[in-house]
Amino acid sequence: MVKRNVNFNPGPAAIPLDVLKIVQGELLDYQGSGMSILESSHRAKEFEAVNDQAMALVLELLGLGSNYKVLFLGGGASTQFDLVPMNFAGEGQTAAYIDTGEFAFKAMKESQIVAKTHVAFSSKEMKYRRVPRMNEIKYPEDAAYLHICSNNTIEGTQFHEFPDTGKVPLVADMSSDIASRQVDFKKFSLIYAGAQKNLGAAGVTLVIIRDDFLAKAKKGLPSMLSYQTHADNKSLYNTPPVFGVYIMKLVLEWIKSKGGIAGVEKTNIAKKDLLYGAIDAAPDYYKGAADKDSRSWMNVTMRLPTEDLETKFIADAKKEGLVGLKGHRSVGGIRFSIYNAVSLEDIQKTVDFMGRFRKSA
Ligand SMILES: *Cc1c(COP(=O)(O)O)cnc(C)c1O
Repeated sequence: MVKRNVNFNPGPAAIPLDVLKIVQGELLDYQGSGMSILESSHRAKEFEAVNDQAMALVLELLGLGSNYKVLFLGGGASTQFDLVPMNFAGEGQTAAYIDTGEFAFKAMKESQIVAKTHVAFSSKEMKYRRVPRMNEIKYPEDAAYLHICSNNTIEGTQFHEFPDTGKVPLVADMSSDIASRQVDFKKFSLIYAGAQKNLGAAGVTLVIIRDDFLAKAKKGLPSMLSYQTHADNKSLYNTPPVFGVYIMKLVLEWIKSKGGIAGVEKTNIAKKDLLYGAIDAAPDYYKGAADKDSRSWMNVTMRLPTEDLETKFIADAKKEGLVGLKGHRSVGGIRFSIYNAVSLEDIQKTVDFMGRFRKSA
């Protein structure tokens, strides 16, 4: 038996074991092609089929129609921080941003480089402990778009409701909660997500754009920085991150086999209920870092009474095979990243450990 830890890494993160086994089995000879998918041309029929299937699965699982284009890009979610304002904040227009965490803030900072940028809400002064109520979000009626980060990976907060923006296109960074829960994805004009949290391996970023929004993209941008280029070429304008796309396809098939997003959501709700339940059951010892109504289902953050105890918690957990629990360097504490590939059994083990740790400390 191979040793497998319970992996709470925030990203790159756990990948379903079933997926890794398929990758292992197909690595030397991909479906009779006599070579690895890593070695085949991105123009070969084998990869084209992977590319097409992955795109179709994205739309199917998210419940989107063919009026959305699916792109697989390099450069990470962070490159989308630049491409979104470059493509969509037109001459004289203002781009609006909701600032709910470090990644949301970074996205806004990048917009400020290339466009007039409006802060629609910020919880920075509250140490990003919560997301806004819908009536706290303010932006110009003619904003080029409103940008939102649906799940704040570092702080452990998440939107559980999305604003109705009317004519203003809604753009979301869903890097850390895409395909983890049922959302009306049709509300969004553009969604992007790095794959390394819920969709597989680092190296590929999923971008989904509705046709009417894409039609508004700025013309004359350098080719690689234009969403239109990638949409026109099914993300095969240049060499795409082939291995990342292949793994994403397998992860999407795995999600489908679990009952689609509704299926994984059910498990994710059970997981977060169990974990937050254990935190709230010992309020003098484990303290949730986020405001209760903003709590993330994907990144569960908490503090212990002292930093020494947090260090010991992380070390003792590691001895039991529970790894990746150190909070982000900017906020400290403990963070459990419980993406789709982390199972309910993994959380049960963790909750058992938390009970024992508290008694022994
Ligand atoms: C991880 C993450 C990013 C950064 O992704 P990169 O692929 O490293 O650029 C951006 N936004 C959110 C919400 C994230 O969780």
